[in-house]
Amino acid sequence: SLLAKFERYPLTFGPTPIEFLPRLTEALGGKVEIHAKREDCNSGLAMGGNKLRKLEYIVPDAIASGADTLVSIGGVQSNHTRMVAATAAKLGMKCVVIQEKWVPHHDAVYDRVGNIMMTRLMGADSRLVDDGFDIGIRKSWEDAIQSVRDAGGKPYAIPAGASVHKFGALGYVGFAEEVAEQEKVLGYRFDYIIVCVVTGSTQGGMIVGFAAQDRADRVIGIDASGTLEQTRAQVRGIVDNTADLVGLGRAVREDEIIINPDYAYPAYGVPSEETNEAIRLAARTEAMITDPVYEGKSMQGMIDLVKKGFFPEGSRILYAHLGGAPALNGYAAYYKDG
Ligand code: PLP
Repeated sequence: SLLAKFERYPLTFGPTPIEFLPRLTEALGGKVEIHAKREDCNSGLAMGGNKLRKLEYIVPDAIASGADTLVSIGGVQSNHTRMVAATAAKLGMKCVVIQEKWVPHHDAVYDRVGNIMMTRLMGADSRLVDDGFDIGIRKSWEDAIQSVRDAGGKPYAIPAGASVHKFGALGYVGFAEEVAEQEKVLGYRFDYIIVCVVTGSTQGGMIVGFAAQDRADRVIGIDASGTLEQTRAQVRGIVDNTADLVGLGRAVREDEIIINPDYAYPAYGVPSEETNEAIRLAARTEAMITDPVYEGKSMQGMIDLVKKGFFPEGSRILYAHLGGAPALNGYAAYYKDG
């Protein structure tokens, strides 16, 4: 394993299940097989999700630093800040999270339900600020880190999505190795992996892990940021850092980084009618719940690409379900009639 030399602090149940989705497969014409890898069911910590796989490789560094407070940042309905709050609670650390106004919203309860409610329940100091969407490093986050120091605490800083962190992508290198192990048992290989991309370390880690198996270009990132250039540049940087860190032994080529920008409209955090139709289809065929910010968009992308004939007949597609369902509560206005 490329990860043998890294310490891992267990936050998840272990390998996540892969399941065949027969009714969704059928609804899309039956010419390609759709399977899902259930990262959304990966842990008992506050409903789980992709961030825990990343945090498993960050926590040993946080503990070694002697920190007493995890500090991070995200939107109001951030899954990531929920996962950092959960990790802090589990470790017995304090937690400060900056929640930015990444999304214009019209639900009255948007800043009180779902992710932010769980974050507060787990004891995190959740601070709302007015800044808009940006996946980069923010002043409000640096101010929060300083505020912990000023109060005599020892902060450990985790950037948005745990992405631009030295160890942020290791967890998803592990995902690629886990898929290869599971394929041995299944007796077949997946031809494509579909993954939602925003802050970049989920897909970035997968690209490095699958590059070691010479199939990084089969990882199709579906952008949900709506800021493609910034996300692509961030994935590129994460891939280079991670390839170096794990000793991949070669540079990853540009043509091994595939990000499709066609489904992020109208904006980050705002579902299109097609996003909502995709959410309904996955829910009605497989009882698989996806959200309007992230997985709804990657589900929409996968459905559209199948319908367009992008995947050759007979392909096996693995949809990486990264979590995110708690945010649905903040979007109730869209789904009054289902
Ligand atoms: N899906 C969910 C549910 C998320 O919370 C995130 C986090 O941003 C993503 C997808 C995108 O992953 P990444 O930020 O690593 O690109």
